[in-house]
Amino acid sequence: MKYDYQLIYNKLFEHYGPQGWWPAETAFEMMIGSILVQNTSWSNVDKALINIKPFLHPELVAQLPIEDLAQLIRPSGFFNIKAKRIKAYMEWFKTYDYDIHKIKKVDRLQLRNELLSIKGIGRETADVILLYAFDTPIFIVDAYAKRIFYRLGKNMPESYDAFRKQIEKVLPSDLNLYNEFHALLVEHAKVHCKATPICEKCPLFEICDRRLN
Ligand code: SF4
Repeated sequence: MKYDYQLIYNKLFEHYGPQGWWPAETAFEMMIGSILVQNTSWSNVDKALINIKPFLHPELVAQLPIEDLAQLIRPSGFFNIKAKRIKAYMEWFKTYDYDIHKIKKVDRLQLRNELLSIKGIGRETADVILLYAFDTPIFIVDAYAKRIFYRLGKNMPESYDAFRKQIEKVLPSDLNLYNEFHALLVEHAKVHCKATPICEKCPLFEICDRRLN
């Protein structure tokens, strides 16, 4: 199984090359982006990030009235809900004095549980933040990863954490590998393994159960 997962990674990496994620200038921008991207496309997030850029410092976002924050992030959709989620996240972040170095010293499981206790932070968002802001090697089980692994014919569990652990159990705990793996799966789902797959010239064609000839 280790060989299988590593092979998927290797083939994607060889084909698409390093992705260099997350697309953000700072870890704080990354965290905000991970909430903004819930239920929307990255192009909408980009518009919201342009609006909020002048305020992209923890103290400034924490001080912004929630109504103003909601208007700034309006292009990302569900902006009232997302403004509440960002405010809830900021409350938690403040408990660490907005200090990412302090957070990185916390035990991984405890940190994940703390993130999951924030209203509006589900497993996928928590894991994206753990991976891309707090340098925790973790596999993100998003809709793209599920689609690709199921199509490849991998016997993956239904539940988020069982799926994640099945991969983490056999791959090395390598931050760069997990960083690239998630980004490569997203790229692959956008280029080849779309809702209607374009299997011709797919880098995983030879190892895929669902390939369309
Ligand atoms: S061969 Fe087709 S279904 Fe299989 S991974 Fe590639 S694009 Fe997806």
